[in-house]
Amino acid sequence: MIVVMKPGANREEVHWFAGTLEKQGVKIHFSEGMSQTVLGLVGDTSGIDEESLLAHHLVDKVIRVQEPYKRANRLFHPHDTRLAISGSGGTARYIGGGHLGIIAGPCSVENRDQIVGIAMAVKKAGAGFLRGGAFKPRTSPYSFQGLGCEGLDLLLEAKKETGLPIVTELMAIHQLEVFDGVDVIQVGARNMQNFTLLKELGRCRKPILLKRGLAATITEVLMAAEYIMAGGNGQVILCERGIRTFDTFTRNTLDLSAIPALKKQSHLPVIVDPSHATGLAWMVPAMAKAAIAAGADGLIVEVHNNPEAALCDGEQSITPAAFSSLMDVLRKYAAVEGKAV
Ligand code: PEP
Ligand code: MN
Repeated sequence: MIVVMKPGANREEVHWFAGTLEKQGVKIHFSEGMSQTVLGLVGDTSGIDEESLLAHHLVDKVIRVQEPYKRANRLFHPHDTRLAISGSGGTARYIGGGHLGIIAGPCSVENRDQIVGIAMAVKKAGAGFLRGGAFKPRTSPYSFQGLGCEGLDLLLEAKKETGLPIVTELMAIHQLEVFDGVDVIQVGARNMQNFTLLKELGRCRKPILLKRGLAATITEVLMAAEYIMAGGNGQVILCERGIRTFDTFTRNTLDLSAIPALKKQSHLPVIVDPSHATGLAWMVPAMAKAAIAAGADGLIVEVHNNPEAALCDGEQSITPAAFSSLMDVLRKYAAVEGKAV
């Protein structure tokens, strides 16, 4: 980090100010010019707040050389992180580091037949994980809110039947008490910057699927991951799920460039949700293929046995048959990318 002092700043005051920075654990390299002094901060500057530096009367400019995230940064961890996640059978499934993690299932758990049936179908088609919402973040309080704890129990039954690890969304900290059997905790787009929740998930030892916020920048996504990692939980999967733009043809706009961007900046696995990104079932296969071609480490796809009757997100859900055909194509894409499914 480089701190440029104001022209004519008092020399003694500048040295006093540099001393306060050193107390925050960095070394200072002084460069005294004709009118301005430049401080080069060497060491871990992630704990130094740019804005409070700028608020100081002696400071003219602050330039960050290194990103404000450290644990999520590829600079400090050059190799791709690979997560190993087991369901009930003990077989590990991998995401990242050359492995595609394919997560499939309905938006919401609706009843036993639905979730167990879909779980068996997506497993047969080659999915590695089952998704299904029990606690649903809905725009309207009058829409189906999910089956809650009953939904979790049904997911556990589907896990027992198929052995597939389960992925489901947590909306509030107190729900952690009932998430024991859950294998991957999803943090939804609307909660990406719920810092209290992220801190708590940093203390837990389960993998976290962190979805990009509706209007979150790449740096904000990585800072959200950093919150979880700073608490000691390094098992974070990033998920691009489309962002809000001016266009309303699709539900969101899939930012495919987020894949190489996140993977350049971070070692964490990056997966894509083509269902919420487009909101349109017929667009899901094209975007799923594009995501793999762009380097994604996996997908999370909404699959429903009867999309027309789905209690949530039917329009963007593909059928088990369509998912099975998609998997056949994706295996070829994975082979081109040199990745295992
Ligand atoms: C979901 O996965 O069903 C969901 C609500 O996703 P998002 O948070 O990305 O909208
Ligand atoms: Mn959904």
